[in-house]
Amino acid sequence: MYAFTYERPKSVDAAVKLLKKADDGKLLAGGQTLLPAMKLRLASPSTIVDLSGLKGLSGIKASSKAVTIGALTRHVEVMNSPHVQKAIPALAHLASLIGDPAVRNRGTIGGSLANNDPSADYPAAALGLGATIKTNKREIEADKFFKGLFETALAGDEIIESVSFPVPDKAGYEKFRSGLALCAGRSAYSSRKAKAALASR
Ligand SMILES: Cc1cc2nc3c(=O)[nH]c(=O)nc-3n(C[C@H](O)[C@H](O)[C@H](O)COP(=O)(O)OP(=O)(O)OC[C@H]3O[C@@H](n4cnc5c(N)ncnc54)[C@H](O)[C@@H]3O)c2cc1C
Repeated sequence: MYAFTYERPKSVDAAVKLLKKADDGKLLAGGQTLLPAMKLRLASPSTIVDLSGLKGLSGIKASSKAVTIGALTRHVEVMNSPHVQKAIPALAHLASLIGDPAVRNRGTIGGSLANNDPSADYPAAALGLGATIKTNKREIEADKFFKGLFETALAGDEIIESVSFPVPDKAGYEKFRSGLALCAGRSAYSSRKAKAALASR
C-alpha cells in the first residue's frame, strides 16, 4: 500500500464535499473490488471516502410493485432477505451465487453497480429487470446507467443511494459458472495444438 488520506464522513453531503476537495477521491463501500485494485496498483486514490459511517443507505424495502435496496446493503443480506425471496426470488438466488462467503459478507450492491464489471451479476439483473438507480442527484434507468466496461453514468461526485427493482411476473437467473473450466478448456486446447505442432515437426 501507499499513503492516502482516509475519511469516514457521517452524511452523504459531507462525503460529496470530501470527493470534490480531493485530487483523486474514491468511495469505499465493501472494499471487495477497490482494495484488491489498490493492492495491484490498478488504482491509487489520494483520498478514500469510507461510506460505512453513513446512516440510511442500507436495508431493503418491498411493496407489491418494487423492491428497493440501499446501496450499502451487502450481498448476504439480499440473499437472506424474506422480502427479496418472496418478491424476486431470482435476485436472492443471484446474490447467493456471488463470490464466496467473505465477498458476500463485505460486498455491497451499490459497489457492484458503480463498478460495472462486465462479469458481475447485479448489473445484468438491473438491466434485465429494468431497475432504477437513485443517486444523491437523480434517478437513472439501468438502460442509461451502464455505459460500457467498468463505465457508468455516475459523475465523479455522485453517490448511489439505492436501487429499485420493479417486481416482475416471473424472473430467472442462471450464471455461467465455468470460468475455471474455460481456462482448463483453453489449456487443453492449447496443449492439443502444441502436441500437434510438435508431432508435425
Ligand atoms: C474473490 C472475489 C470474487 C467475486 N465474485 C463475484 C461474483 O461472482 N459476482 C459479482 O457480481 N461480483 C463478484 N465480486 C465483486 C464483489 O461483488 C464486490 O463486492 C463488488 O464488485 C464491489 O462492491 P464493494 O461494495 O466491495 O465496492 P468497493 O470495492 O468498495 O467499491 C467498488 C467501486 O464502486 C465505487 N462505489 C462503491 N460504493 C459506491 C456508491 N454507493 N456510489 C458510488 N460509487 C460507489 C467505489 O468508489 C469503487 O470505485 C467478487 C470479488 C472478489 C474479491
